[in-house]
Amino acid sequence: MQTRDPRENRAIKAVLEKRVKKVKVKTGSGETYFFIVEGSQKEKFYLVIPGLYCSCPDFLFSVRFRKRKEKCYHMMAVDIALKEGKYEEIEMDKDTFLSRIVNTLLGKAPGGSKGRRK
Ligand SMILES: [Zn+2]
Repeated sequence: MQTRDPRENRAIKAVLEKRVKKVKVKTGSGETYFFIVEGSQKEKFYLVIPGLYCSCPDFLFSVRFRKRKEKCYHMMAVDIALKEGKYEEIEMDKDTFLSRIVNTLLGKAPGGSKGRRK
């Protein structure tokens, strides 16, 4: 695949590596959907609201503050995944979801334990 924008390449890679996921979060009154894009180490993920928001630093600084770009690569990845229908759907309860978000924002690996891989 040929593209000019390196972010687009990273976005496509994230989609191909199945790092884009649609998360169904159960709340008290029903459920909500979010998109997440896992980092390449899969230790963090970024919360993405398609076309609007991403929780990564690149979005905050380059998109929001400096307005140099329209999207970070996570948002591009979600756009591609949506267009191609290439995303996985997962479910989390609200507490798990929130604690993962908080850990991500604090730069910690989810759950704090690394010994749970197969
Ligand atoms: Zn991002």
